[in-house]
Amino acid sequence: MANEKVLVIGSGPAGLSATKELRNMGVDVVLVEKEAYLGGTPKKLKYSLLFPELRPATEVLDPMIKSVEDSKPKIYMESIIDGVKAEDKGFTVSIKDKSGKVTTEKVNAIIAASGFEHFDSRRKYEYGYGIIPNIYQISDIERMLSENKLVTTKGTPPKRVAILLCVGSRDATVGNTYCSRVCCAVSTKQAMEIKERVPDAVVHIYYMDIRTYGLMEDKLYWKSQLEYRVGYIRGRISEFMRGPNDTVIIKGEDTMNLNRALVIPYDMVILANGMELGLGSKQVAKALGLDLEEHGFVRPLDPDRLPVQSTRKGIFLAGAITGPKTISDSITEGYAAAMKAYEYVTKGVWEESDFAKKAIEVKSH
Ligand code: SF4
Repeated sequence: MANEKVLVIGSGPAGLSATKELRNMGVDVVLVEKEAYLGGTPKKLKYSLLFPELRPATEVLDPMIKSVEDSKPKIYMESIIDGVKAEDKGFTVSIKDKSGKVTTEKVNAIIAASGFEHFDSRRKYEYGYGIIPNIYQISDIERMLSENKLVTTKGTPPKRVAILLCVGSRDATVGNTYCSRVCCAVSTKQAMEIKERVPDAVVHIYYMDIRTYGLMEDKLYWKSQLEYRVGYIRGRISEFMRGPNDTVIIKGEDTMNLNRALVIPYDMVILANGMELGLGSKQVAKALGLDLEEHGFVRPLDPDRLPVQSTRKGIFLAGAITGPKTISDSITEGYAAAMKAYEYVTKGVWEESDFAKKAIEVKSH
């Protein structure tokens, strides 16, 4: 194998694992990252502990970043993909940096791993995010926890906390009818972290249903109740109001108990905002000419059998670009995409599927 080269877009968990694996297999990698650092959204938003093992995010990500740096791929920081031209044996890619300078690279395959963005809770205006003090998103709370600054606007630790699930997910009013998969687990984990730091705090989680699927049921859902006394309330919250002394008053109904009206004050409210494709990945999808699926994520060629192949030959996908993912799922997909890209650049293997055609046929009946 001589000079096979793969472009990896994005240096979050999926892009890092893909780069690491390709370098281990002796493939040249060009890594393009739009931020000024490696590590993707978990680094950008300073994630605190990762579920379900409650390990510091840095403990998982930093060794990956280090091994990628040590493997010496060609890295373009603060850069985006400006255009892609298919050639005989691969692609010519233009890469634009922050100052506007454009460089081209010839590569044999591409892995798009540019990830997701958190839903912006301002779009659910009735929840008052950005308007009423002491209303946060889970993404804000991760940073507050990792910086050890979990305090209300008064500068004191919160004594009464409400977490509202499914903000921006499973919600047709904002156009996102899918489940974001991770926010139940992140919220439960945050509830436990809050109780660790403020043991006498009252923490309530308001839910439609709890999706701490698989092994997380025990490690998070039951543990949070039995060991940390986190309360779960099945309820529908219609709005938040500003209360006296910067409290937040929740208004809604308890749907488990005869739709009893709820009007309850809290010191802090946390909105479990979900995942969307985000502008960065939309731009990548457009530049690469990739298809989107009905929820706005990038469509794999065959989501069951070929989940890391895109609809365009020679382009592979990994991580949350194809839908909400956990960090460990993204890492696994990074490895899978690296293996598929390796087979493609060394042996020309590209599997075909008529799934997209079939899906359209089923719809038309
Ligand atoms: S993971 Fe939980 S909070 Fe997130 S969208 Fe699904 S059900 Fe809602």
